[in-house]
Amino acid sequence: MKRVYSASDLVDARLLADALAGERIRTHLFNASAIGAMGDLPFGETWPEVWIDDERDLPRARDVVAAHAARRVLPGSVRCAACGEDSPSNFDCCWQCGGDIAAGAAR
Ligand SMILES: [Zn+2]
Repeated sequence: MKRVYSASDLVDARLLADALAGERIRTHLFNASAIGAMGDLPFGETWPEVWIDDERDLPRARDVVAAHAARRVLPGSVRCAACGEDSPSNFDCCWQCGGDIAAGAAR
């Protein structure tokens, strides 16, 4: 058994577990039900963890984890119509002028 990933949330962990299952890698999900205990335990210790059954699958599992992590990164940026500055696409307003960029879909 080998831990390959600590997820920030259960959905994230499940998505990765599904991706690994698609590669016929057997996985176990830990801390899947510990979310409710957050606040009583040190930060990070209750995060869902994805473990693989067979360590011989580790090289392939690492590839799947890397691809999974890359997909979690929000793509591109959004250009502010007011000042022309680019802000990360997950921002609701322009970092420069505070203008509303959530509606603008320009990349
Ligand atoms: Zn702006």
